[in-house]
Amino acid sequence: REPTLGNPQNTIAVLQKYNFSFQKKFGQNFLIDSHVLDKIIDSAEITKDDFVLEIGPGIGTMTQYLACAAGQVVAVEIDKALIPILEDTLSSYENVSIINNDVLKVDIAKLAREENENRPIKVVANLPYYITTPIIMGLFESHVPIKSITVMVQKEVADRMQVGPGTKDYGALSLAVQYYAKPYIVANVPPNCFMPRPKVGSAVIRLDRYEESPVQVTDEGLMFRIIRASFNQRRKTLANGLKNSAELDFTKEQIQAAIEKLGKPASVRGETLTLEEFAELANILHQSAE
Ligand code: SAM
Repeated sequence: REPTLGNPQNTIAVLQKYNFSFQKKFGQNFLIDSHVLDKIIDSAEITKDDFVLEIGPGIGTMTQYLACAAGQVVAVEIDKALIPILEDTLSSYENVSIINNDVLKVDIAKLAREENENRPIKVVANLPYYITTPIIMGLFESHVPIKSITVMVQKEVADRMQVGPGTKDYGALSLAVQYYAKPYIVANVPPNCFMPRPKVGSAVIRLDRYEESPVQVTDEGLMFRIIRASFNQRRKTLANGLKNSAELDFTKEQIQAAIEKLGKPASVRGETLTLEEFAELANILHQSAE
């Protein structure tokens, strides 16, 4: 079945039929542009072999496109007012199931195990912007087998995920994403492609999960604590950031020696370090604590 949604007329008709009112707190901005939907499906490279998790199907617009392209689609929607609408708009697609829950409370690893024999799944979504980071980091940090994540996010967040050191957008999110995946910005999407229009520009980003991370770290948790400490106090030196962190317990001498061993001046700032350098710093500090 060809998708019926993805244009303003049919979206309005569905909203009126069910007397639906948008809930701001759920970040509801529905896609009304079929070109953008085609672009998302194409760039996610969905095939009939794929099991797709969609987060926040709304009235089922992208879900229809996904159902046409994928083998199986599971969509998780928090707003129970949307469930009868989804049952209607998706009634002719047999490979779709809906879970009415907060995605942060769903055991996605179990879903992949039980529904896809633990083979890697693809995540595709027009994300609710208020919880983009917890959703993406949650998927990476829990042991969900993931092949790729292709998502619509706020433009500024897409930039942060993609940049390297020396730019203002570089931060803990850039490093966390790039430790787990290779990011590609696929398209920029203006506010008029959504109903209602968001106040910010949007972008579609694809994150291809590495089978093996590009850097070797002995203690991943320690590396992320170091990264957070370095960006907590942006304008301070790396040494001060590490010393003042409540999450870390190194002496001033250990920190100074580690920065020297890394080959950096004592005044270096955290935001100039690459992922490779953070990994090396974590390995040096891990060793010095033994
Ligand atoms: N996929 C639809 C589209 O593109 O038209 C809707 C996208 S809209 C930006 C985000 C959707 O996520 C909304 O339907 C919203 O109700 C849902 N949502 C918000 N928070 C959620 C959560 N914690 N768990 C699951 N769904 C959520």
